[in-house]
Amino acid sequence: MDWNIIDVKSKIVGQKGEVLTKTVYRCGFCEQTGHMPSRKLAKCPVCLGDGSVTVTPPAVICAYCNGKGSSPINRDITCIVCRGKGIVSIISKDIEMCPTCKGRGRKSGSELSCLTCKGKGVIPSEQGDEND
Ligand SMILES: [Zn+2]
Ligand SMILES: [Zn+2]
Ligand SMILES: [Zn+2]
Repeated sequence: MDWNIIDVKSKIVGQKGEVLTKTVYRCGFCEQTGHMPSRKLAKCPVCLGDGSVTVTPPAVICAYCNGKGSSPINRDITCIVCRGKGIVSIISKDIEMCPTCKGRGRKSGSELSCLTCKGKGVIPSEQGDEND
């Protein structure tokens, strides 16, 4: 495993590839300010000014936007993968790094989200046992 951990210094809630089990997170798009990143007077469309977002666990940091919640192409646009939350729900806690994009959430040299993991950077692990 060779996780590419970017943005460790910041207020990120976890590491990429780490399974998150909380329900409420800081809004990635506005970084909890409640405003649009570039237009301070406009309410954040993701959290509606609340600063926090709700995600159904289990979840992971959105690999496509790196938890920022904004599109890599235009930071005024919300990320298509996590819809601006910076966190995205996953089906199973048993995950592994997406072999196609190597956990980046997009193909190298492309701004499009990875089709294999749908931009999440992880895929459900095949051999996850269901015993709880
Ligand atoms: Zn927000
Ligand atoms: Zn995202
Ligand atoms: Zn992928």
